[in-house]
Amino acid sequence: MPRTPIVAGNWKMFTTARTGRELAAAIVKGCASLSGVHVGVFPPFPYLNVVADVLKGSSVALGGQNCYPANEGAYTGEVSPTMLKDVGCRYVIIGHSERRHGLGETDEFVNRKLHAALDAGLDVILCVGETIEQRKAGKTEVVLEGQLAGGLAAFRADLAPRLTIAYEPCWAIGTGVNATPEQAQAAHAFIRRGYADLVSPQAAAGLTIQYGGSVKPDNAAALMAQPDVDGALVGGASLKADSFLAIVRAAVA
Ligand code: PEP
Repeated sequence: MPRTPIVAGNWKMFTTARTGRELAAAIVKGCASLSGVHVGVFPPFPYLNVVADVLKGSSVALGGQNCYPANEGAYTGEVSPTMLKDVGCRYVIIGHSERRHGLGETDEFVNRKLHAALDAGLDVILCVGETIEQRKAGKTEVVLEGQLAGGLAAFRADLAPRLTIAYEPCWAIGTGVNATPEQAQAAHAFIRRGYADLVSPQAAAGLTIQYGGSVKPDNAAALMAQPDVDGALVGGASLKADSFLAIVRAAVA
């Protein structure tokens, strides 16, 4: 089944209102004549509105980097899926390793976010990935299996078109050391098989699985040429329009 790749730029806690606006405008311009790829940018919460204005009428989608699993309530400092939807987000990232490992988020909490986000009408990018210790101990597949089963608990097959999975080995995020194309392919194929068992073989054939972890213009094409690698989740290289657009172009090459 042909799958349209997704290239997503996770700006993390970078940019200002001005640089975010400029970056978004350059990405819109660079994507204007491209087809065959979904492109999204994920600015910090305070700049979602600013960037939404720039993206209006373009092919570039807006996304949130996180959400809380409730629509409203006394949750100081949190942002709800309905708020993200309200400011024009199409996507939300959940389960990013910087939240799992830096902020102690569990699979159970990630699963609550998944359902809240889908209920609010957001498309979800669910991140999974092992630490270097887990990889060295030969536990990569066990970890991925657990994160998939936990994160996707009670997930309904009819929502499959609104889910993307990002394989992001923790040891590759922000380190400059990407997974090799072969390592990425092996993990992605494993994820697709696991997803087929959890959801359905048909949903698995259509599942978009992005790779994330030190994707740069010089390694993007080789990673995305792998049969089960359907795009990229990009951190550092998404903060410069030139490098992000080079990765977007590699997805359609
Ligand atoms: C990320 O933030 O998801 C990421 C993959 O970061 P980087 O591209 O900088 O490794």
